[in-house]
Amino acid sequence: MVRKERWTALNVDLGRLATSIVDYCNTHDFEAKLTRKAGFYHVQAIKADAVRTLLGARRCLDIVVKGNPNDFEVTVGTGDWGKNIAASAIVGAITLGAGLIAAGASAAAYKYFEEKLWTYIRKQVSSLVNSASQPRCLSCGKPLLKGYNLCPFCGAILK
Ligand SMILES: [Zn+2]
Repeated sequence: MVRKERWTALNVDLGRLATSIVDYCNTHDFEAKLTRKAGFYHVQAIKADAVRTLLGARRCLDIVVKGNPNDFEVTVGTGDWGKNIAASAIVGAITLGAGLIAAGASAAAYKYFEEKLWTYIRKQVSSLVNSASQPRCLSCGKPLLKGYNLCPFCGAILK
């Protein structure tokens, strides 16, 4: 039901990643909105015709981008449209939402879209490598390269 992938040491701008996910949904027959919360981005995507055509259909995709540029995870699950859930509560909300899922065609459409979305997210992560602002040494302020235990400029211990 819930799928999660984690990436490390890629220095990815998470705001740009989340925004690109919204754009992708909006150009693929879904309607998406982005909410920025402390420490994560929450995207909800609902099939564009669902609101108008299916009575009471509130099933949507919940996409959460969480972490920092060098250690983040993307979670895709099912949620209820319009519900601003906290990332920590996502599993509970999904279980609840699953009971409300309208059967058949709708579920299949979401499943199909979810697969395409994952392919897109992976591609997007690769293209955003090193897009986040450069981390800097807390001691001397010089830009840091990956993989050092000591700052190559001032010798401060990096964590
Ligand atoms: Zn330094």
